Amino acid sequence: MAEVIVVGAGLAGLTAAIHCARAGHDVRVLERYGHIGGMAEIHPSVDVTPMDPERLGAWLGIELKPPYVTPPTVFRVWCYGRKHEWPAEWHHLQSVERGARSTSLESYLYGLAREAGVRFEFGWTLRSQADAAQLPPNTIIATGLMVEAFEALNLPFQQVYGYIANGRFEGAPVMVGWFDDYTRDYNYFANVNGVCFALAFDRRPVRKDLLERWREQLRRDEGVELGNWKVHEGVVAVRSIRNPRLFAGNKILAGTLAGMQDPFCLFGVHSSLVSGKIAAIAVDDKAEAYDLFRRMSSAYKYSWVARRLFGLQPHWMRNVGVNLGLSVWERRPALLRPMMEWSLRTIPGYGKI
Ligand SMILES: Cc1cc2nc3c(=O)[nH]c(=O)nc-3n(C[C@H](O)[C@H](O)[C@H](O)COP(=O)(O)OP(=O)(O)OC[C@H]3O[C@@H](n4cnc5c(N)ncnc54)[C@H](O)[C@@H]3O)c2cc1C
Repeated sequence: MAEVIVVGAGLAGLTAAIHCARAGHDVRVLERYGHIGGMAEIHPSVDVTPMDPERLGAWLGIELKPPYVTPPTVFRVWCYGRKHEWPAEWHHLQSVERGARSTSLESYLYGLAREAGVRFEFGWTLRSQADAAQLPPNTIIATGLMVEAFEALNLPFQQVYGYIANGRFEGAPVMVGWFDDYTRDYNYFANVNGVCFALAFDRRPVRKDLLERWREQLRRDEGVELGNWKVHEGVVAVRSIRNPRLFAGNKILAGTLAGMQDPFCLFGVHSSLVSGKIAAIAVDDKAEAYDLFRRMSSAYKYSWVARRLFGLQPHWMRNVGVNLGLSVWERRPALLRPMMEWSLRTIPGYGKI
C-alpha cells in the first residue's frame, strides 16, 4: 500500500485519513496550524447541520453521538421580527462543537485517526501552485474555507463576510436563526457542551450598524450578551453551478474545496464527512468514487439556482414570503413536509447515502 498524503486536518481531511488508514494505507496528514481544530480565532464554535447521525455513522463506520454530535432541543427563527419555533427534530438538526476542545468533532476524529495509525505533521501550509506540484498524485486536499488552496489549484470560490462571537453558555442546546435586513444570508446563535457561538454572515461585507442592531435583538429576545465580536472572512465553493468537483489535476479534493456544501444555507458539516470517505475511496478506485460523488452532489444545482433567485428578492418580498412559509410550516407541517424532506437532499450526500 502506498503512502497517502492528506492536506488539512479538518472534518473532511480527518475522515479521509481514517478511511485510508483503515484500508491499509500509510497515511500522513499535513496541517497548517500547530494543533488540531483549525483557526483558533473562530473556535470554540458551534455548527448546526441537518444530519441523521445513525445513518451517516453507519455509512462512515464512525459512531456519531454526544458530545460530538448532539440534537438541539429547539429550533427558533426570527423572521423580520416575527418568531417561529419548532422541535429541532423536524429539521433533522444536530449541533456540533468545532475547534480544539476535547468535546469537538475534530478532536474525536483526530483520536480515531491516531488509533488507526495516521501520522500528523503540523505547521505545513499549502500556499502556491509550486507547493501543490510537489505533492504526489492522489494527495487528498481538504483545506476548508481558507483561500490559499483555492488559488493554488485554480478553483472558483466566493468570498463570505461577517462577524462572529463565542463564549460560555450553560443550558440545553438551542439553535436560533434570523432572517432580517441584517444580512442577505442569515444570522444564527447556537450552543452545546457549555459553549455558544453567534455568526452574522453574508456574501457582502456586513455593516457595523446592522450588527449592532442584531446584537440588541440577541440581548432583548434571547438574553445573550457576547462581547468579543470579530470580523470574519472566508471563502466557499459555491461561485459556479459547476463547483462540485472531486479531482484537480492528479489531486483528490474533499470537503469545502470539493464544493461539498449546500449553496443555500452553506451547511457543510454533514457533506464534509461524506466527502472525506469518497476522497479515500478515490485513492483506490477513481471510477467508483466519481460515481458516488456525482450521485451525492446531484441536487447541488437546484440549491444553487434557488439561492440565486432568493438572492434577487428585496427584503420586503422575503419578509412576506419567508414569514408565510414559516407560518404554514409551524401550523400545518404536513402540507410542507414533502418539500422540507426534498430540500434536505440539496445537502450533498444527505439523501443518497
Ligand atoms: C464561522 C463558520 C460557521 C459555520 N457554520 C456552519 C454551520 O452552522 N453548519 C454547517 O453545516 N457548516 C457550517 N460551516 C461550514 C463548515 O464549517 C465547513 O463546511 C466544514 O468545516 C468544512 O470542512 P472541511 O474539512 O472542508 O474544512 P475544515 O473543517 O475547515 O478543515 C480545514 C483544515 O485545513 C487546514 N488548512 C487550511 N488551509 C490550509 C493550507 N493551505 N495548508 C494546510 N492546511 C490548511 C485548517 O487549519 C483546517 O484544520 C461554518 C463555517 C464557518 C467558518
